[in-house]
Amino acid sequence: MFAKILIANRGEIACRVVRTARRMGVRSVAVYSDADARALHVETADEAVHIGPSPAGESYLRGNKIIAAALATGAEAIHPGYGFLSENPDFVDQVVAAGLIFIGPSAASIRAMGLKDAAKRLMEKAGVPVVPGYHGEAQEIVLLASKAREIGYPVLIKARAGGGGKGMRRVEHPDDFSEALSGARREAKAAFGDDRVLVEKYVDKPRHIEVQIFGDSFGNVVHLYERDCSAQRRHQKVIEEAPAPGMTPALRKAMTEAAVKAAKAIHYSGAGTIEFIVDASQGLKADRFWFMEMNTRLQVEHPVTEMVTGIDLVEWQLRVASGEKLPKTQSEVALSGHAFEARIYAEDAARGFLPATGTLHHLKFPQPAPEGASMRIETGVRAGDAISPFYDPMIAKLVIHGKDRRTALTALGAALSQTEIAGSTVNTAFLAALAADADFAAGDVDTDLIARHQQALTAVPPPSGETIAAAALAASGAGDLPSSDDPWSSLAGYAHFHAVARRTLLRFGEQGIVARVSVRPDGRFEVALDAPYDSANSHDLRAAPRLARWPGHVTVFEGAIGYGFAVPDPLARADEAAAASGSLRAPMPGLVKLVRAGKGEAVIKGQPLLILEAMKMEHTIAAPHDGVIAEIAAEGAQVTDGTVLVRFAEEPQLTAVSLSTK
Ligand code: ADP
Repeated sequence: MFAKILIANRGEIACRVVRTARRMGVRSVAVYSDADARALHVETADEAVHIGPSPAGESYLRGNKIIAAALATGAEAIHPGYGFLSENPDFVDQVVAAGLIFIGPSAASIRAMGLKDAAKRLMEKAGVPVVPGYHGEAQEIVLLASKAREIGYPVLIKARAGGGGKGMRRVEHPDDFSEALSGARREAKAAFGDDRVLVEKYVDKPRHIEVQIFGDSFGNVVHLYERDCSAQRRHQKVIEEAPAPGMTPALRKAMTEAAVKAAKAIHYSGAGTIEFIVDASQGLKADRFWFMEMNTRLQVEHPVTEMVTGIDLVEWQLRVASGEKLPKTQSEVALSGHAFEARIYAEDAARGFLPATGTLHHLKFPQPAPEGASMRIETGVRAGDAISPFYDPMIAKLVIHGKDRRTALTALGAALSQTEIAGSTVNTAFLAALAADADFAAGDVDTDLIARHQQALTAVPPPSGETIAAAALAASGAGDLPSSDDPWSSLAGYAHFHAVARRTLLRFGEQGIVARVSVRPDGRFEVALDAPYDSANSHDLRAAPRLARWPGHVTVFEGAIGYGFAVPDPLARADEAAAASGSLRAPMPGLVKLVRAGKGEAVIKGQPLLILEAMKMEHTIAAPHDGVIAEIAAEGAQVTDGTVLVRFAEEPQLTAVSLSTK
């Protein structure tokens, strides 16, 4: 076994690899960029080496700097995690040339599976079923369009170098083909520097089921059963589980055999995943699954497999890379119970899953695990850390195991509603809604489920009067009293309050809220809200709410929903008024890719105005209301968070209640 390894990654996966290495007595070296100087993975590892500026292209993707760090610290092997350099065969060559060991497959195996088109041709030859479609070299639009017609609509255009759902477009009708193709190519070019595509049949009621395989350098390959990753939004996994709901013995046998065959065809060593697409329109049938691609690395969702097999996949990776045989034979790998993984992201589900940034002022995970379940929280951040625009905005993976699917799912819902994150927009409410969705709960999943139920899954009810009252009370300063975090138990508040009500201002989104907080003779607080919230009732708060506060802000948690309230500083009112004018600002840093409206043009609500490329994905920015454009960002402009993208000539009707106190 190695004495020391270097982890060429960051965030939760770097922390997770350190954990297993430490348990095995292997020392670990972290690498970090400027933005990560104080990151959890740096603190967690035994040593850490700075490798460059914040953009990944100047740090985590710089193979030479990482190899130099390994040599300088005496690490014998490099664990790539997932993403970054994990599937880069040139990096593997460089690692080997430097006399180090790459904890993963050979460069040749990665190359064989690296491009979706070539991989499909190879798998076809090996006798593994592949999705019907065109995966040839020629790329003329006319040819691709005619192939699409031959295949039959709907079709899916995919970047051959694709990953993470980027450069992928579903096309329903021939008329939309060329526009979808341009979009896919643009995204692919930006994300992978390769705009070549393949065209596939869009599978009916598609389910994404993948098989975890493991190989060693002695030619042994075993599978560790399947995971179902059908719960997806924009082709990205949201909640994964193992085993797949409704899996039949016949399909499992056929899929796992095909997966092992695929791995053997490329002499695979290490952890790998064979992704299949399954047509579930007539239930799960052994002849209705096809190879999509192979991921030649550890997957984000590997913990669900660990939960149901009791195997530590990172331990196996280290053992196999150091030359040992697979620790178990196929018959020794058994399934037990059911596991889910929910990916907690900084993103705005209600606004098309727009990635979010921010400082995690408050971060609290459930403790202990909900009854009847075991739980793992995989995270790379702690309270006070920032979600920067430089990397993937994942905050944590909540992994739950129970004796059966229903037990595990109930526990997942409970754990999500006990999770408290404030300081950035997060998707916990969306995840909880998905966990509670009737079709999802019934195991009736397919990759379109989220899109079909999107409205219901992303709708957030307005805060209750009780929640607003709790926020107002906290904002009024009653909660800042010495020696108490809990304003409801604190009678000392009396000293600060008089019989007269104290007027408190809050803002929820664009809505201004006026509340009057007073103390009753019995020492309890009373909060009255102005219309439209609750003109008649005042709130006598009983249960201590779950909340997070920092200067200028209060978040109140109701189940898995965190309602964030701004507490405006009256002195800053002038600035606020200016900010509320009729302009559209960039929600995050990015590049203006395409501008679809011009100065002086009248636009209607919902009309796409421009495409912002951020975090390697394209986001359409639409008009929030009817109006005339006075100014619009230039195509190709690099914008930061808050930059004005569009300014309207006419002031929109603002719904905000006046915040003036007179
Ligand atoms: P990426 O490498 O970008 O993740 P994949 O090829 O793995 O791309 O596909 C991502 C997802 O897109 C799949 O999990 C599945 O939901 C959907 N998908 C891919 N191919 C098809 C297809 N032929 N028909 C229907 N859905 C598909």
